[in-house]
Amino acid sequence: MSDCIFCKIVAGDIPANIVWQDENILAFRDIQPKAPVHVLLVPKKHVVTFDQLDGQWADTMVSMATAAREVSKIEGVLETGYRLLINNGADAHQEVAHLHMHLFGGRELGPMIKKAPQEG
Ligand code: AMP
Repeated sequence: MSDCIFCKIVAGDIPANIVWQDENILAFRDIQPKAPVHVLLVPKKHVVTFDQLDGQWADTMVSMATAAREVSKIEGVLETGYRLLINNGADAHQEVAHLHMHLFGGRELGPMIKKAPQEG
């Protein structure tokens, strides 16, 4: 997609710090890392959210899982642990409209998500 920043990275039109790739997934370092290891796993084919994967859901998830395992080895967090996160849509604050999985690690990451004050 012509105005998608991750498609431009996949195409090589915008530079990125690439960690790993295969025919389906490009893994590159987040430009504003939130942890010592913060890598984005991005399907090379443009898709905005899960629900748009349709029949390719299973293949894409297997590719993402493969990418996560390989990146965790490269980044040295396979043994220490890491967190995988997908922000999907507005409530999750998805900023880039191209499906991507965050891989965080390299330190103790703390609780997964905080309750809002009104949730007690
Ligand atoms: P999300 O909120 O899940 O959509 O996260 C989007 C992520 O993409 C953020 O963590 C950004 O820092 C990251 N990001 C945006 N532009 C770039 C870029 N050009 N290279 C690497 N990471 C980027």
